[in-house]
Amino acid sequence: MQIDRLKLTGFKSFVEPAELRIEPGLTGVVGPNGCGKSNLLEAIRWVMGENSPKSMRSGGMEDVIFAGTASRPQRDFAEVVLHAASTDGEELEVMRRIERGAGSAYRINGDDVRAKDVALTFADAATGAHSPALVSQGKIAQVIAAKPAERRAMLEEAAGISGLHVRRRDAESKLRSTEKNLARLEDLTAGLD
Ligand code: ATP
Repeated sequence: MQIDRLKLTGFKSFVEPAELRIEPGLTGVVGPNGCGKSNLLEAIRWVMGENSPKSMRSGGMEDVIFAGTASRPQRDFAEVVLHAASTDGEELEVMRRIERGAGSAYRINGDDVRAKDVALTFADAATGAHSPALVSQGKIAQVIAAKPAERRAMLEEAAGISGLHVRRRDAESKLRSTEKNLARLEDLTAGLD
């Protein structure tokens, strides 16, 4: 999957709508301190479903919305649209929007979807909010120092099988609840004998 466009509105320091084209190959973001380089990477993670305050450098969910400055009022919503093309040329547009007091909403190619659908879409394409393809400051040192289990997770992500783990967990939980229902049914039918 090749991410080729990113649109941000009201996301962190990107108060005005901003659109970026991402060309094929390795992309580096350069600029003076505090200009918003890390915010860009966070926007990519966020639209892919990231919520962890540590990854997003924020306290609450709504902290990604432009908080205002001495000269500009805060915004009521933040929106990030990511456009990508798969290797077989299929177009994908994912949108995440958060409104103050209303939480997050996601869309894939214009259809309302759940956060989980977005996560699975990216996991199947061997990318996602935790993809090793997104290299933030300090990440290289973290990769070198990673424990074997963490390194394995990175390799699984790169190999595109992390989506299978999510489906396996889902299937196991469905199996457990079906087993519980069966046991209950057996108890009930035993009472009928
Ligand atoms: P450095 O090179 O120092 O790491 P950077 O270019 O990566 O900096 P970022 O950390 O992406 O910069 O951006 C930081 C800026 O974003 C700060 O000026 C901060 O005030 C601003 N910022 C972060 N969240 C918000 C928000 N919700 N509303 C408005 N501005 C925000």
